[in-house]
Amino acid sequence: MTTAEQREAILAAVDARFDAQVAFTARLVATPSLRGAEGAAQDLIEEEYRGLGLKVDRWTLDPAEVSQHPAAGAIDVDYSGSDVVVGTYLPAREAGRSLILNGHVDVVPTGRPELWSRSPFESTILDGWLYGRGAGDMKAGLAASHHALAAVMAAGLRPTAHIHLQSVPEEESTGNGTVSALQRGYHADAVVIPEPVGGDLVRAHVGVIWFRVRLTGEAAHAAEMAQGFNAVDAAYALIGDLRRLEARWNADSASVRHFEELVHPFNFNVGLICGGDWASSVPDWCEFSMRVSFPPGQSAEDAWEQVLDAVAQSARDNPALHGAAPAVAKTGFFADGYALEPGSEAEEALAEAFSSAAGRPLGSRTMTAYIDSRVYGLFDRTPSLVFGPVCERMHGADERVSLESLREVTRALALFIADWCGVEEDNSPR
Ligand SMILES: [Zn+2]
Repeated sequence: MTTAEQREAILAAVDARFDAQVAFTARLVATPSLRGAEGAAQDLIEEEYRGLGLKVDRWTLDPAEVSQHPAAGAIDVDYSGSDVVVGTYLPAREAGRSLILNGHVDVVPTGRPELWSRSPFESTILDGWLYGRGAGDMKAGLAASHHALAAVMAAGLRPTAHIHLQSVPEEESTGNGTVSALQRGYHADAVVIPEPVGGDLVRAHVGVIWFRVRLTGEAAHAAEMAQGFNAVDAAYALIGDLRRLEARWNADSASVRHFEELVHPFNFNVGLICGGDWASSVPDWCEFSMRVSFPPGQSAEDAWEQVLDAVAQSARDNPALHGAAPAVAKTGFFADGYALEPGSEAEEALAEAFSSAAGRPLGSRTMTAYIDSRVYGLFDRTPSLVFGPVCERMHGADERVSLESLREVTRALALFIADWCGVEEDNSPR
């Protein structure tokens, strides 16, 4: 246990270093890290880890190797630009419990730049908010992890357990960055992921699957439309049938544990659609990509079977599909959901750290988004705690993160590191 004096020193160190932390976070936000192009942002992270004296391990994702893991998502992109960076703190003396602080460096596309008040990667601070794509999701949390450790060290303390700081790609599409870190042999007694979840602890999150559907029709002149087979119309009809499956999954969501309070938590999102070649030709192709989500406890395999059944039934029964079987392929996430069982020592320690840092109890919530916590939670049986700052307009224009909540989260993380891992006074000459 840390002493009251040590805790005060740690909190003071977080506050004293906070401007530098925000400045680094702004630099990280201004360094784009879209899927497959995270290298420059990972360079910044690696430099920080080295500056803290951590042992750095950096590797490029290997699609063949990652695919062998049951938690892996389908890969349909080039991985040659996707690196994982892990910085390991090695204790002089091993006495406490080890810790993984995981965060993702990849960000989602910006959407139409003209819908932003400033350029998406301009990284502006205004009225206590940091703006930019990835500011909240989740560069603020990613940087908070090593800044929390740095604050503990700046307070003259040294943790007495291994700490692995993981900066991973692919969280927004497959989860394969964290899967790869687990495959590489990184384990700990607890995992914390500072995703932007509004200052609460995540009790549960949904499972997610990505897939693409391609419909093939028959071209004809629009003047003789009835002689063709309109693949775009067929796609609309099929999407309508999939919406019925979505309605079924949501019909009794009030009886799903951890989801009782949520309205329509399991969303089928048509995120991409294209088809046809010419306004006066009946389109002979249409393709759409969909993301579906489902509760923890239901396996991705089961969700996938239900989707395939719904597509097959639509092809059979819906006249708009002309009896043709659409081609369906997995394109990313194939992930189960995860629920954190209450009462773990890690949760108790985090709750304690949060109330010391923020002066109020730690709340909890259920997330209707995918989070990497399921990787270690389900496949390494390690309690995986998701807890991070307040963010608004995630994945939208003018994404922003609250700096005051980031400070609070960093203070809590620093106290948690000290309590969970244990600390000793640093007597080495400095
Ligand atoms: Zn995220």
